[in-house]
Amino acid sequence: MTNADVAALFASLADLLEYRGENAFRVRAYRNAARIVESLVEPLATIRADPSRSLEDLEGIGADLAAKIGTILDTGRLPALDEAAAGVPAGVFAMLRVPGLGPKKVRALVEGLGLETLDDLAAACREGRVRGVKGFGEKTEAAILKSLAFVREHADERRLWEEADALVAGLLEWMRRCPAVERVEGAGSWRRGRETVGDLDLVAIADDAAAVMEHFRRWEHAGEVLLSGGTKTSLRGPGGTQVDLRVVAAPAFGAAWQYFTGSKEHNVQLRSRARDLGWTLNEYGLRRLESADLEPPEATTEEAIYRALGLDWIPPELREGRGEVRLAAEGRLPRLVEAADMRGDLHMHTTDTDGEDTLADMVAAAIRRGLEYVAITDHGQRVTMARGLDETRLRRQWERIDALNAALAADGPAPIVVLKGIEVDMLERGGLDLPDALLAEADWVVASLHYGQSQPRERITARIVEAVEHPAVNVIGHPTGRLINRRPAYDVDIEAVIAAAARTGTFLEINANPHRLDLDDHLAAAACRAGVRVVISTDAHSVRGLEVMRCGVLQARRAGLAAADVVNTLPWERFRDVALGRTSPSDAERRPG
Ligand SMILES: [Zn+2]
Ligand SMILES: [Zn+2]
Repeated sequence: MTNADVAALFASLADLLEYRGENAFRVRAYRNAARIVESLVEPLATIRADPSRSLEDLEGIGADLAAKIGTILDTGRLPALDEAAAGVPAGVFAMLRVPGLGPKKVRALVEGLGLETLDDLAAACREGRVRGVKGFGEKTEAAILKSLAFVREHADERRLWEEADALVAGLLEWMRRCPAVERVEGAGSWRRGRETVGDLDLVAIADDAAAVMEHFRRWEHAGEVLLSGGTKTSLRGPGGTQVDLRVVAAPAFGAAWQYFTGSKEHNVQLRSRARDLGWTLNEYGLRRLESADLEPPEATTEEAIYRALGLDWIPPELREGRGEVRLAAEGRLPRLVEAADMRGDLHMHTTDTDGEDTLADMVAAAIRRGLEYVAITDHGQRVTMARGLDETRLRRQWERIDALNAALAADGPAPIVVLKGIEVDMLERGGLDLPDALLAEADWVVASLHYGQSQPRERITARIVEAVEHPAVNVIGHPTGRLINRRPAYDVDIEAVIAAAARTGTFLEINANPHRLDLDDHLAAAACRAGVRVVISTDAHSVRGLEVMRCGVLQARRAGLAAADVVNTLPWERFRDVALGRTSPSDAERRPG
């Protein structure tokens, strides 16, 4: 069981208790448990296996929760969930996963219309019966139908990249402990950094393939063995994920790693280049065709394979057949942005709204991560659920930031600059949720759309373009609102948003949260082509949340972005002059004149 699997059980329990109308406090407790577990970086099983540690040492996990987690790790089941599920129609679980349908709404539908399955629900929508239930209208009915289509499309759900990455990291560590393994690497869509990953692929070098396969089958998460041959073993890992391991001899490694990294489309293009030279290319390497007179060079590494085909080595994130082969042939591949290029993080929350860690803790963690500047961007007042800040509370937070900056600069140069920011909400009727005069005083303003997401395309687009054009707004947060595998983007004319951003110099965010990755790779590339610069930010709600920066960077790499395309790769002084477009108040006094 991975942390994500455990979190999913707690989330289901919370949904089910709420569906049954049970105590709101219990519901909240399990929802929190799911969130805490999901945000842990270290596997729960590892912590539990360590005799010197206890699950109860983890923040927010008490004795009761620790015991439940123990049961889940041992048995794969949560008895309280089985209990709560008794007598609930199976279709309810499926309905709870329809975006926009919370437990209360599902209950009203099930009780009001006697629904049992998703098909029942779809039929009820089409026949106009849903609008007859109290609290539902024609619009909701249409929205549910749309969501149902989305759920069907994502029925064959892939794992988020970050979850897959945790699995791959653990598996590589395990495989590297096998003495017969000379080298082992991950391949497939994980290596290409896709936002979701289906199967996991590993490629190893070894002379004794049988010993490697044997070691693989003894992996702690190994389930059913699907296929076990001389050079390939496939088995089921956690959550049913298929894991394929191939073992090759050292000279074939480059070709195998390249081949199993894909993508299919990229490999088709490479094979066609090989054919033009009179060769074939497959997972075993380059071979001469009968008709050709030129023998291919020996190519045992990926670099050598690409070189033999007259190409620069192509970073895996670009291998999607979107023009990268041509760029590599012309020696024009971009030098992609790297995690080490990031100098600032410009979207994060604290305990002043819905964050889990204090302002001081977030800043201390950012210093430890080596950042030169951060913006504190708690929610504005519209987000009542998160106790969003009104003018008075925001000004109080800014006073604390002034004091913190002063304290940081007390003995010599400050290790970090803390910007006074805010994540304002684009209101349903238009406009922002805090006064313009206040926003004009902020160092950094993120504008986001959290409410009224089902408004028609023109309304949503107008709200966002209005925010792009607002003089105080620096960046649009998670510009399309999509949640991977959970909720589609809202209906927005993103081209119009990009055009407005290019016109006004407003930045667009790549939100690095692995559930969001918004802008996605295609849109980030489109924004960049239009001359818009992006900001990669974590939207961290805890110290741990700062770690997802690498997920955002990966997405930017898939978009083909260089460091220069990303504003917060600039060192502080340049960032201040270029991105803030003015000197921040704290610097004004240091400037001559
Ligand atoms: Zn937000
Ligand atoms: Zn946020």
